[in-house]
Amino acid sequence: MSRDRVVRSRWPAVEVPDVTVPEFLLAHADVRPDATAVVDGPSGRTVTYGELRRDVRRCAAGLRARGLRPGDVVAIVAPNGPEWLVACLGAMAAGGVVSGINPLYTADEIAPQLRDHGAPVVVTIPPFLPLVRAAIAAVGGEPDVVVLGEAEGATSFGAVLAAGGDGELPPGLVDPAHDLALLPYSSGTTGLAKGVMLTHRAIVTNVEQMQTVMGLTPEDRSVAVAPFFHAVGLNVVAGVTLRAGAAIVTLPRFDLEAFLGVIERHQVTIAVVVPPIVLAMARHPAVERYDLSSLRLLGSGAAPLSADLQQECAQRVGCPVGQGYGMTEAVAAITLFDAAAPVVPGSVGVLLPGVEARIVDPVTGEDVGTEGSGELWVRGPQLMEGYLGNATATAATIDADGWLHTGDLARCDADGDVFVEDRLKELVKVKGLQVAPAELEAVLRTHPAVADAAVIPVPDERAGERPKAVVVASSPVAAEEIVAYVAERVAPHKKIADVVFVDAIPVSPSGKILRRLLVAQDRAGALAP
Ligand code: AMP
Repeated sequence: MSRDRVVRSRWPAVEVPDVTVPEFLLAHADVRPDATAVVDGPSGRTVTYGELRRDVRRCAAGLRARGLRPGDVVAIVAPNGPEWLVACLGAMAAGGVVSGINPLYTADEIAPQLRDHGAPVVVTIPPFLPLVRAAIAAVGGEPDVVVLGEAEGATSFGAVLAAGGDGELPPGLVDPAHDLALLPYSSGTTGLAKGVMLTHRAIVTNVEQMQTVMGLTPEDRSVAVAPFFHAVGLNVVAGVTLRAGAAIVTLPRFDLEAFLGVIERHQVTIAVVVPPIVLAMARHPAVERYDLSSLRLLGSGAAPLSADLQQECAQRVGCPVGQGYGMTEAVAAITLFDAAAPVVPGSVGVLLPGVEARIVDPVTGEDVGTEGSGELWVRGPQLMEGYLGNATATAATIDADGWLHTGDLARCDADGDVFVEDRLKELVKVKGLQVAPAELEAVLRTHPAVADAAVIPVPDERAGERPKAVVVASSPVAAEEIVAYVAERVAPHKKIADVVFVDAIPVSPSGKILRRLLVAQDRAGALAP
């Protein structure tokens, strides 16, 4: 490897204190206990830093009193709200490992994650209780089910807090450098979703890296419309906002008018969103009816955003629109636009402090540095420990020298601005959320008329991408039947948008589906229905 071609961040590595995620994010409770930390967007209910820390400690002590041990996983299946953060930080303070799950998942999608990590505690809200119970029934076991609210037959969150008394915790419960705090799921570059093991240290580091570049102040107000089960919602929005001592306004789901109304009503200054929301902000007529003048920064990440749309949105909204790029395997962000410099349209920003990158030609394996495109490899202090129980996938993702192979095609210019050009790995990104082709292919193959199947992304104006199924039929079947069959079994964002029938799925000599070939054929119009 030619070392001189390594691209380095323009900033040195950040100083990271030896503290847990809750200690790090709630430090402002010491100095400004009465400042607002979280606002429940729909009701306007506020939680101060002092209240948040008190409840986090009580939750931690309550979970311990109910039997939670350090290293135990606490799964959270709930929409965004202040209590999501109390439960999350409380579990972490008790030494627990939090795994957020999309509440729109079906029981069949939740079950594999519960089976994988064996969470002894599952937190949800009353309306999702039947869903959670169905997933638990499929897995077996009897986890403690805690509801944020009250529901028959489940432990109420209030009872957990009450069991925590005054929130007394034994010292030294958590070793921040080595103990895990989060276990989000990601398919990475291939296969099914895997548990991404993130330590307290990695998360504190990434939040500090982001805040160094974003520079939020205690006067800022951010809106958490990105879900807390994903890196953007939890680490970028909630993490950076609390680190800065600012306020987060939570929204349980995306609804354009509710989102715009919250910005106006709560004088939101920072919004970090996914590209479909940037599109809506740029083009939707409803935007005209709201006063968005409080916004000073709009960030976009988790999926590609064109330079044109980025500029169109900035013009309409009247504030800079900057991009960030990251992966769950790196906690959240790897690059971010430098808030202190003019936005470079189309760029996903610059490497975060202490991060190194290589641009590696996928064919020759040569480092091209700032002279061309290649697979982006990154190394930095915020990378995952690995995938839970999957050393093979870990070794295929982070090499022996510590480089994370992102599976993204990128280039980096002489100023250090990174541009993501394409995706080499097998992943469909719908509204910023992951859809693993291998998972949909497995669902498709359970249909009696499907002999073989491959799933590839197709561009979609509103969602960014949608999954398209390439199917070998074993008996006559209509495309609509296949679409409906999958829709019954998966979360809404994973629905198949399009089906095309072929005679055979192309595979490599070792039997791997040649998805890149199918994507190329599709882009050339050769896979039209
Ligand atoms: P996730 O782990 O869900 O955050 O997904 C990570 C993947 O999302 C990356 O490897 C990219 O393929 C894609 N991604 C994230 N941010 C961007 C961005 N700003 N532009 C293009 N793709 C992105």
